[in-house]
Amino acid sequence: MSELENCLFCKIVKGLIPSQKVYEDEKILAFKDISAQAPIHYLFIPKKHYQSLADVPLSEMSIMTELFTAMRKVADQEGVSVGGFRNVINTRKQGGQTVDHLHVHLLGGRLMGGDMTGA
Ligand code: 5GP
Ligand code: ZN
Repeated sequence: MSELENCLFCKIVKGLIPSQKVYEDEKILAFKDISAQAPIHYLFIPKKHYQSLADVPLSEMSIMTELFTAMRKVADQEGVSVGGFRNVINTRKQGGQTVDHLHVHLLGGRLMGGDMTGA
């Protein structure tokens, strides 16, 4: 089985694994993190598989604008833009990445600690 076929978040995109979707457009999907670390904890992913931020070809970096645009829309809708929120992107092993499909965390609804983890 290829890496892509084996990818948890690709399976969520395909609907093979259920998720609680909060946003979807042509290129982006967002859903609730299964292990929420804050009242709002969503994951924004490109529907196209990239293993991590370090695996996005520089010619395709516009996907990051797509991700952050979707994230801002949802943050605004959820009312966390006023008080503030935290984004986390873990990249590869030393970055603490556990699911190898690029994703942006949106954490909000509580005061974040100063440890940069969002935990
Ligand atoms: P990472 O540590 O790679 O930055 O974040 C992966 C995130 O994916 C974790 O916060 C984890 O809770 C979440 N996660 C892992 N498996 C699932 C799943 O099956 N469904 C959902 N919705 N989130 C998941
Ligand atoms: Zn994937």
